[in-house]
Amino acid sequence: MKIRHPEKINKPINPIKKKPNWIRSKLINSKEFFLTKSIVNQHKLKTVCQEANCPNITECWSKRHATFLIMGDTCTRACAFCDVITGKPKSLNPIEPLQIALAVNKLNLKHTVITSVDRDDLVDGGANHFFEVINEVRKQNPETTIEVLTPDFLRKGESYKKVIEAKPDVFNHNIETVPGLYRQVRPGSIYFASIELLKNVKKIDKNIFTKSGLMVGLGENKDQIIQVMDDLRSAEVDFLTIGQYLQPSIKHHPLDRYYNPDEFEELKTIAETKGFLLVSSSPLTRSSYHADEDFAELQKNRINQTNAQSIS
Ligand code: SF4
Repeated sequence: MKIRHPEKINKPINPIKKKPNWIRSKLINSKEFFLTKSIVNQHKLKTVCQEANCPNITECWSKRHATFLIMGDTCTRACAFCDVITGKPKSLNPIEPLQIALAVNKLNLKHTVITSVDRDDLVDGGANHFFEVINEVRKQNPETTIEVLTPDFLRKGESYKKVIEAKPDVFNHNIETVPGLYRQVRPGSIYFASIELLKNVKKIDKNIFTKSGLMVGLGENKDQIIQVMDDLRSAEVDFLTIGQYLQPSIKHHPLDRYYNPDEFEELKTIAETKGFLLVSSSPLTRSSYHADEDFAELQKNRINQTNAQSIS
């Protein structure tokens, strides 16, 4: 049998804790789910929904909402929380921008989310490929709004600017965890480099909504979570998502605990007082969960905020 994570073979065994009843994902087996699946397969696309074993897949795909994973299914990093395969990626597929654009068209998406694996092997970290995908999706689907969830482009100079140049409607980069856990959880990344990336996006183009996501249950405490909220606000991030970490296997970072729904509500209230335009916080929140509805909410909240500022 092929081992999915050979890089974690020498890691200690961390038994998986039983899920509480509020974590159960919905089982919806609709015609739409299979339609999404057939379009993804027909265009030979990868999705993070499948690669990261997302618990929301039946719900999202039943609404034709899939998050496309570009630049392959193999990541050059080995984050301790993530189920995506680590290894040496293949070269880029030059027709991928067109394949994604056609799939968006077939799914008739109002809003699409595009993410990627980390590509530290590429000189620009894949920024140009993001640029091409965004442009092609827009060309074939002028009415569709585009959200990208990008890597950190660490040690790739100013290559991230190419993604901004393509003007996605939302630029998301997940902070994932608190800085004190980076060495164990996100060993190839630097917390303040991720904050800096988000800050720079906003500095360069104020019209692009910025977004970031945090997982809880990895061993952080409340003060550390609040510090992350403050750091993200200092980078003028508009939208924060907070969701429960689910341990993918016994070789992944151990789950510390499950937060209950009331705790997620409390974190949402705290984050809202910090001034985010929008906060989504629940056990099953993922950065692309309900992304289309949330985008509409973001736009509405920005208009309300601008109106309130002009009155005061
Ligand atoms: S939450 Fe995101 S990754 Fe999960 S199934 Fe929905 S679209 Fe896919």
